[in-house]
Amino acid sequence: MIYNCLNFYLNVPVKQIKILIMQAKDAIQNLKAGNARFLEGKVERNNQDSTRVQSLTGGQAPWAIILSCADSRVVPELAFDAGLGELFVIRVAGNIANKSTVASIEYAIAHLGTKLIVVMGHENCGAVGAALANGGGSESLDHLLAEIKPAIAQSGSTDINEVVKVNAQLSAENLLARSLIISDAVKNEGVEVVSAFYNLSNGKVDL
Ligand SMILES: [Zn+2]
Repeated sequence: MIYNCLNFYLNVPVKQIKILIMQAKDAIQNLKAGNARFLEGKVERNNQDSTRVQSLTGGQAPWAIILSCADSRVVPELAFDAGLGELFVIRVAGNIANKSTVASIEYAIAHLGTKLIVVMGHENCGAVGAALANGGGSESLDHLLAEIKPAIAQSGSTDINEVVKVNAQLSAENLLARSLIISDAVKNEGVEVVSAFYNLSNGKVDL
């Protein structure tokens, strides 16, 4: 029912759904292994050549969804040594779970069959810093910062990295609270949602 619903919504053929799907626990191990290669300077850069480009023309089956900040220093495909068609990455300042990011994740869950969602905050996030400083000033920026402020209250801290970690956890919880497709997939389809922290100083991801 979810597939049909989303198929109607997006007007994309259901036949594109891949049958071979990586389970969440294997996807987490893949991310850890890729990040270890990144840290050790031993990246493989698989699936990044023209052959891979052509092989993906007919569809995609990414094995992990990453909701990450837009910060230029935090690049999931590099941090996890992943190639084309492997990660379904949504980047927005503060890695918040708003309607657009939720909808993007719903698409990957329901239509591409992806089983793992990682919400990745990062050290010294500027969006979290702006929320701590009561920044804002435009309708859009105020919307963004309003999504982050609950993490300040819940963390009970003014330490930016403590708030970043709580913000990633709250975003992960909000994905479930704000989407029946995601919460149903977690209950019944083996989908897992985890939060993570990217260390700017060395590129290590704490999963
Ligand atoms: Zn950030």
